[in-house]
Amino acid sequence: MAKEPKDFSYFQGKIVPSKEANVNVQTNALQYGTAVFGGIRGYYNKDLENVFIFRISDHYKRLTNSAKMLQLGFDKSVEELTEITLNLVRECGYLENIYIRPFVYVSSYALSPKLHDLETDFAIYILKLDDYIDTKRGLTTLISSWRRIDDNIIPAISKASGGYLNSALAKSEALQAGCDEAIFLDSRGFVAEGSAENIFMVRDGNIITPPISASILEGITRKSIIELARGLGFTVIERDILRTELYVSDEVFFSGTGAQVAWVKEIDNRKIGNGNIGPITKTLQDIFFNIVKNKEEKFKHWLTPVY
Ligand code: PMP
Repeated sequence: MAKEPKDFSYFQGKIVPSKEANVNVQTNALQYGTAVFGGIRGYYNKDLENVFIFRISDHYKRLTNSAKMLQLGFDKSVEELTEITLNLVRECGYLENIYIRPFVYVSSYALSPKLHDLETDFAIYILKLDDYIDTKRGLTTLISSWRRIDDNIIPAISKASGGYLNSALAKSEALQAGCDEAIFLDSRGFVAEGSAENIFMVRDGNIITPPISASILEGITRKSIIELARGLGFTVIERDILRTELYVSDEVFFSGTGAQVAWVKEIDNRKIGNGNIGPITKTLQDIFFNIVKNKEEKFKHWLTPVY
């Protein structure tokens, strides 16, 4: 039997047992969400006895950019961050699917909600994670009554912790209404994204997804799906989407590090397509799962082996 991995985190510049990675109650980020975070997956391939981290450089580029947007003091390079992460996963000894959560937070006890010239810390914890939302059955969804945060309110593209109150409102609303997930409209009323995933629809064989100007996070899975689909000869269009177009689309699916590629069966009580996974979604989902497990030669450059 595989050995149980050790529960370590990276905290205040070193690897420590997770139970010792605690912040003080006065921490500024705890009051105001003054932090930015990432979410990275590592996939275990049993045959190769290795864990492959998906697009780690892209994730750390985004984290660095998020910190820059919010003026959080953070000077680690992508290479340094990658090295810290690999060392942590190795030290824990994971041989399963994992989710890596790095974040930069205002560790200062400053009372005021501000961002610049405050002490920050960089931390990482790791969880075992298979599906975050079901990828096998179709998801039921609703259009949230909460609008996606606008770039001039809290930049959705920054993956700012405080902005996730917006996601939490929508997710709770969806779950409490008996649905699996919420779909946000942006402040203009166009489709934006899910609470923690980007959205795609298929109409007449074309794959369509909202542009980054629709207050979405620039998803790394989204970018991967676009590249992948275009490589397979599909037309992928980034344009504004009406909620009613979703209702009459042939297929709808989510993409995200947590969500991976998850298909939508229902939106606001309307069945999408014939209520089964659509052929284009199925094709992309199958290839995506092969890629992340290092079974697609052409996409090996998206993966970083841990061991
Ligand atoms: N949108 C939001 C709001 C998210 O939190 C996430 C998850 N990071 C995504 C989209 C998907 O982005 P990615 O593919 O980079 O995980």
